[in-house]
Amino acid sequence: MISVAKVKLQAISTPTYSIYSSIFPLRRGRGLTGLKNLGNTCYMNSILQCLSHTPQLTEYCITDKYKNYISRSNKTNGQVIEEVAALIKELWNGQYKCVASRDLRYVVGQYQKIFRGVDQQDSHEFLTILMDWLHSDLQTLNVKQKRETITASEKAWMEFTKAKESLILHLFYGQMKSTVKCVTCNRESATYECFSNLSLELPENKELCYLNQCMDMYFSGERIHGWNCPNCKTKREAIKKLDISKLPPVLVVHLKRFHADPIQSGAYTKKQNYLRFPLENLEMTPYIARAESRTVTPKIYQLYAVSNHYGTMEGGHYTAFCKSANYKRWYKFDDQIVSTLDTSSVVSSAAYILFYTWLPHTQVSSH
Ligand SMILES: [Zn+2]
Repeated sequence: MISVAKVKLQAISTPTYSIYSSIFPLRRGRGLTGLKNLGNTCYMNSILQCLSHTPQLTEYCITDKYKNYISRSNKTNGQVIEEVAALIKELWNGQYKCVASRDLRYVVGQYQKIFRGVDQQDSHEFLTILMDWLHSDLQTLNVKQKRETITASEKAWMEFTKAKESLILHLFYGQMKSTVKCVTCNRESATYECFSNLSLELPENKELCYLNQCMDMYFSGERIHGWNCPNCKTKREAIKKLDISKLPPVLVVHLKRFHADPIQSGAYTKKQNYLRFPLENLEMTPYIARAESRTVTPKIYQLYAVSNHYGTMEGGHYTAFCKSANYKRWYKFDDQIVSTLDTSSVVSSAAYILFYTWLPHTQVSSH
């Protein structure tokens, strides 16, 4: 039986909450803390909010579990994960309306000059480098080779990790198989590459496009000329095709909106396509490599965060739309301002990086 008091509380709190939150930024709430703009740092803030809404990563940071796995012998000396964890703790303690990421910014600026200044940077570039650093900072999990015979995909994975893995690798890294096939003799040659995000082209001259169209384009294969066929022992026409040999639990999809301007050197043009992408049930099965289909379990992905870009490369602005696992709804993170967001507004022409997961979007517990 539901108590009267509880019913009353629900009846009062729901409308009050929605009225006020649409007028005022939220003052408090776990994971609902804004990030101050330290001079064009919105690209960083946008990515950090998306990462902080990955419950498995946040739980790992706020429980201090990460401390047992820090590597001190790598290029960043374990400093990046320490600063990211410290910031995630601040974002999730529910005490602040907004905080500044000064220490993290100082540390990333030490290791990469472009993140030091006050110029606007590409959030995709920041994310890719940050992932590499975070993985390297936590790359202390020893992995034993399970069987005598391993597949080419497993061998390439071992070569990439050097038998040392991390939570970051387990969550965000997948593997791509690239096959080149000689059109004359049909000889195939495959190589494997690990990725922390997929970079998809947008179709030319299209105002409206769909994510599956971009995926189809990316995985459709292309004809290449002058491939040195090891069987024909001469240059041949070939078909190069990409397939996924390992799907990560968190799939990050980057939309290539920026292109070097062919006329003006050093300048970028932006593709403003309105991309429709699913909030639920993104199906990745068609893109799994056939040989690996036994080992790769098809998964259905759900969207939980978006890094948005508005304006031009030089004079643009970034925000993040994130689904809170604790409050079961979407929020907009615009630097220091956090506000509620209607689910129908998540898909917009500003979408730049999409964060999908097949892991349960579990509530982050308090500590
Ligand atoms: Zn050949």
